Amino acid sequence: MNNALVLRCEQLGRVYRDGSREVQVLNGVELALRDGEKIAIVGASGSGKSTLLNLLGGLDTPSRGRVMIRGQDLAALGERALCRWRNQHLGFVYQFHHLLPEFDARENVAMPLLIGGAGRRSAWQAAEAVLAQVGMQHRLQHRPGELSGGERQRVAIARALVTQPDCVLMDEPTGNLDPESAEQVLALIDSLSAASTGFIVVTHDPRIAQRMDRTLELRQGALLEQPRAPA
Ligand code: ADP
Ligand code: MG
Repeated sequence: MNNALVLRCEQLGRVYRDGSREVQVLNGVELALRDGEKIAIVGASGSGKSTLLNLLGGLDTPSRGRVMIRGQDLAALGERALCRWRNQHLGFVYQFHHLLPEFDARENVAMPLLIGGAGRRSAWQAAEAVLAQVGMQHRLQHRPGELSGGERQRVAIARALVTQPDCVLMDEPTGNLDPESAEQVLALIDSLSAASTGFIVVTHDPRIAQRMDRTLELRQGALLEQPRAPA
């Protein structure tokens, strides 16, 4: 694959300090994601998957090593520039949707564009278009509390995609869903990645991992490529 590198990390380490105790969660993680690539990250509970995703997304700072997005070392950016870089290049989807309860679906999805400086009219239009893409055009004015779990997650995915990011980071995106809603979300990821958006999906579900281009296992603080079972 000759596609351009979207995201790369080198020798990434993260130590949590808890009083006098040190917990080394990540220790030398290497990862490269190319345009349009879909990578699954699997690993036991507590192996550091969420920690890794937070570092890749610039939400947390590594103890050593570095993360580069489109060649930019995140550590070299100040707080404001980092926020802007994240807003322009990345989308996030969490296990629990993290939608704002006081805002309806359209407002939630428009939010990253508004934060990025877009006008309200164009942000709403873009939000409506992406909500239609995830099959939620009939729920524009519903608040999260008025939506089912699967619908909320589809709105959360729309919010992650509305800025047309280079890469979407997902942490257990179907972990909280019934099998049918999970399948809808997976089908959505399939159809969206046909475009050039890259995905890094943390999951403990081998069926999800199977649908990505590559699977990496986080074990003892490092990522190991998992061989593919023949289809
Ligand atoms: P996973 O997502 O794979 O279940 P996490 O990345 O959430 O794992 O956590 C990895 C390890 O780091 C766990 O042992 C967890 O207890 C520890 N950990 C996570 N966040 C913190 C924190 N803020 N302070 C101290 N320890 C943490
Ligand atoms: Mg986790």
